[in-house]
Amino acid sequence: MRVYIDGKYYDEAKAKISVFDHGLLYGDGIFEGIRAYHGRVFKLQEHVDRLYHSAKALLLTIPMSPPEMMRAVVATCRKNRLRNGYIRLVVTRGVGTLGLNPNRCKQGSVIIIAGQIQLYPEAYYRNGLAIVTVPTVRNLHSALNPAIKSLNYLNNILAKIEANNAGVEEAVMLNAEGYVAECTGDNLFIVRDDEVLTPPLAAGALYGITRRVVMELAEEAGWRVREPNLTRYDLFNASECFLTGTGAEIVPVVKIDGRVIGSGKPGPVTRQLMERYHALTRVSGEPI
Ligand code: PMP
Repeated sequence: MRVYIDGKYYDEAKAKISVFDHGLLYGDGIFEGIRAYHGRVFKLQEHVDRLYHSAKALLLTIPMSPPEMMRAVVATCRKNRLRNGYIRLVVTRGVGTLGLNPNRCKQGSVIIIAGQIQLYPEAYYRNGLAIVTVPTVRNLHSALNPAIKSLNYLNNILAKIEANNAGVEEAVMLNAEGYVAECTGDNLFIVRDDEVLTPPLAAGALYGITRRVVMELAEEAGWRVREPNLTRYDLFNASECFLTGTGAEIVPVVKIDGRVIGSGKPGPVTRQLMERYHALTRVSGEPI
């Protein structure tokens, strides 16, 4: 594998950054996880747009333009002959001093890794996933806005540890008011009375690109899509529940905090959305 760092390609073993990079020292940086399907990069423009929005929020200057970034992602896929896979795009604040002042960092670094990912075993897509709500609440948007896809994922990692301790793979995170925000690496949806519902972004969720695609697909399929605040009670009494994310795509959820959701099997709306999503990935994207 050849890894892109600041305009050059390095062998995997030699792809390294400085120990003085503030991405490492302080989690001061941002990232995107992107998929390639059938020789196309899926929703590349949307991912690059979100990257630049994260950068704007952190006053982080990315040392290249969005079109150049898109070209660099495609070029890295080509270099690695990647047709199906996962691309990790990282921008760090760059090399600075040991103090946290970002002004001491001269230039941000851009890293592009074109590899593979498998978040969940195949069986979860067929049979559904059990998840739990966890004590760690999602970051307040007034403290560290979950819309910023930053390199500081400790809030999510703490929640993931709590899910693992409970013997499941994924955690539902609530916000400080007790409303459902999202999972540690995925957005959450429920189906109730022919409506497809997902928490509003202001509840403390990432502006998920898969979330947006799924909302559009659900509308096209004729379901009403809304973004109300949701409580655990709403999750327990949903007829279906599923998670969305670039890596995970659409994963059915069949149990939450020991409560069986709907029939206890992936529901018809979830299954239809999974099909529609896969169909879209076959035809859409930036050619590599
Ligand atoms: N929430 C969080 C916290 C995430 O890290 C991600 C991405 N893995 C998502 C939601 C899903 O976003 P997307 O569909 O853009 O991948």
